[in-house]
Amino acid sequence: MCGSCALVQQANLPTDEELRIYYSHNYREDYKSTHKPKPKYVYRAGRAALDRLVRIRKAGVPQGETLLDIGAGGGEFVYMAHKGGFVSQGVEPHQGYSEFARDEYGVKIETCQISDIEHPGFGIVTMFHVLEHLAHPEQVMAKVHRLLKEGGHFVLEVPNITQNDASPHNIYFKAHLFYYSRPSLIAAASAYFEPIYVEDTGNLFIVFKRKSNPLPSVLLPSAADVKHVARRLEEKGWGEYLFEGGGLTKIFTRIPKSFREGKVKQMEPKQILDQLHQQPDV
Ligand SMILES: [Zn+2]
Repeated sequence: MCGSCALVQQANLPTDEELRIYYSHNYREDYKSTHKPKPKYVYRAGRAALDRLVRIRKAGVPQGETLLDIGAGGGEFVYMAHKGGFVSQGVEPHQGYSEFARDEYGVKIETCQISDIEHPGFGIVTMFHVLEHLAHPEQVMAKVHRLLKEGGHFVLEVPNITQNDASPHNIYFKAHLFYYSRPSLIAAASAYFEPIYVEDTGNLFIVFKRKSNPLPSVLLPSAADVKHVARRLEEKGWGEYLFEGGGLTKIFTRIPKSFREGKVKQMEPKQILDQLHQQPDV
């Protein structure tokens, strides 16, 4: 962990070339052992998309804006955002997933990396569980700043290293190069963005507003914030997860969850998302 900005980093970062090959071919297979998302993953992604749209509205981001989702995966968020009134499109490096999104939902998703995106002027850029996979967060911030129009919003969600509700099995993951917390993410974005909405009880969800004039360098968090993150790293473990993070009750909430997911087994991906859009509580 960096003692200045509280960012937690994997000891040996892979090279840019290794990362590029991994995300264009192997990543999804490693992750979920499938080339195309199963109905239950579409259902989960659809529910997550609805939650994110609620938060984006709560943050006061105007509806009807142009939206770019970076790391769009199977395209569920881009499709749900379109149904929710945004003019949405996405980019996704994985061939199979981006094709799936285009074929199943008819959404505009390009198969490419962040560095390939050239058309600026978006009202909103979203990145859900992507930044922690990227080796150059400072370049990502500069790039997103260029992609957004004046007054635009950057919506980020990443795993939160200070959360206590993540199973110790899932805290460290080989594809996660960096581990963020509220202070380190705000610091990482601070040269280009100002936070206007923060949720950090579970995953870290922050809506940033684009600064018209970028700063020459980042603003570091306070020493107290850095100390807090260091203490949270030491406290992590099975005891905390089971008794404070809700680990024990998760065993019981999983039963109705798998029941709901079982009901979508025979449905087409688009049908699943359309039904969720109409009845978000089902
Ligand atoms: Zn640092």
